[in-house]
Amino acid sequence: MKVGIIGTGYVGLPTGVGLAELGNEVICIDREPQKIEALKAGKITLYEEGLEELFRKNVAAGRIRFTTSMREGVENADLVIIAVGTPPHPVTKEADMKYVHAAATELAAYLKGYTVIATKSTVPVGTGDDIEALINNKNPFADFDVVSLPEFLREGFAVYDFFHPDRIVVGANTEKARSVIKELYKPFEGKTKMLFVQRRSSETIKYASNAFLAMKIHYINEMANFCEKTGADITEVAQGMGLDNRIGPKFLNPGPGYGGSCFPKDTMAMSYMARQNGVEMTLINAAITGNIRRKQEMADRILEMVKNIENPKIAVLGLAFKDGTDDCRESPAMEVIRHLLEKEANITAYDPKAMGTACQLLGDKISYADDMYGCLKEADVLVVLTEWKEFKNLDLAQAALLMNRKNIVDCRNLIDMDEAIKNGFRYQGIGRKVLDN
Ligand code: NAD
Repeated sequence: MKVGIIGTGYVGLPTGVGLAELGNEVICIDREPQKIEALKAGKITLYEEGLEELFRKNVAAGRIRFTTSMREGVENADLVIIAVGTPPHPVTKEADMKYVHAAATELAAYLKGYTVIATKSTVPVGTGDDIEALINNKNPFADFDVVSLPEFLREGFAVYDFFHPDRIVVGANTEKARSVIKELYKPFEGKTKMLFVQRRSSETIKYASNAFLAMKIHYINEMANFCEKTGADITEVAQGMGLDNRIGPKFLNPGPGYGGSCFPKDTMAMSYMARQNGVEMTLINAAITGNIRRKQEMADRILEMVKNIENPKIAVLGLAFKDGTDDCRESPAMEVIRHLLEKEANITAYDPKAMGTACQLLGDKISYADDMYGCLKEADVLVVLTEWKEFKNLDLAQAALLMNRKNIVDCRNLIDMDEAIKNGFRYQGIGRKVLDN
């Protein structure tokens, strides 16, 4: 199939490369010339495990190309996928639809023959109708259908998730459009569940799913607060809860709050949509406010650990919003650091993949180390903010030698608590008591 993909970000690029690997002829379109120039020059523009190899392979095979020209990407396509950003509106916090609307308006003029327009961007219910109206308005003779094709990939696992989706949800209101999407996903037939629903249901499924996961994280964080007061251990509590099939073990890891480019914005957009429709989402609203507060609480607990030290040096391990990605958008680590900087904290940080993206956001407000041990030199407290596996293997004996004072605030419960105590650290995790040796 000939596929045009608008937007080469964390969704568009892995999707384009994945579809090329399945044998489709893919053209990726982006309005940022420097991204397209880099991709054309064979340079990958974001980090995702396994993406670079697959990208090189499919570029070499001529199955994927890159352009800034909407015409080039759309005019011969059977299917055009919209994968542009839908960030929160700066004032109302609803999903800002300016990129989606611009993409729909720009592509309209170049449609030739029957084309399916599939929206992979996370968009408010009713967006399919809006896109239809925009295209009809611009090109009354266009022959097309608009389909909702929500994306459920996890950043950090985008390539794996592309080839092993839990489910494929298709919101299509015509049989003709449904058959195009069925053809596209033929390689997944019998391997994953494909759910065909009304377009508005599909648009809602994406928000309902993300808001649910965000609430699950918020819930376990509140339970962790409870455990800290009562002497229970959240790790054991989560394990016991997760063994119940109705609950499941995933998203029961307490931490510094949910982040990333999806959960914060999607919960706010869902809440806004509900209000617009006269429905109050009490649970989602509680998760939103609790999650904002959570970052401040983490900063406060770090400052509490070093409150008797003059001008303490804080070593931060982890900047990305989670492991496996260089994405720092809405990263809890970034928020915690911002709160610490308000108190003029002296911070050195290290992240295996996100140093570049973090530096774009924080600049020289903090120092950056080349590795975890460099980060710990003369530190008064070690803070873990992202759950990178390599932090688990930190040699605590060596860390103890490098640091000025032996304090750990482990916001991901990643460090071996017993080992920390053995090596003379004062250790505070999440949902457990503060432990001293
Ligand atoms: P992103 O910001 O990484 O990428 C968007 C890209 O679209 C940018 O490169 C931008 O230059 C380009 N773009 C914007 N307008 C354009 C236009 N008119 N023409 C051509 N290019 C244009 O965004 P992302 O993280 O890939 O997210 C895209 C959408 O997918 C969002 O709605 C998001 O909510 C949703 N989503 C994201 C994830 C994720 O893990 N990041 C997962 C599921 C769904």
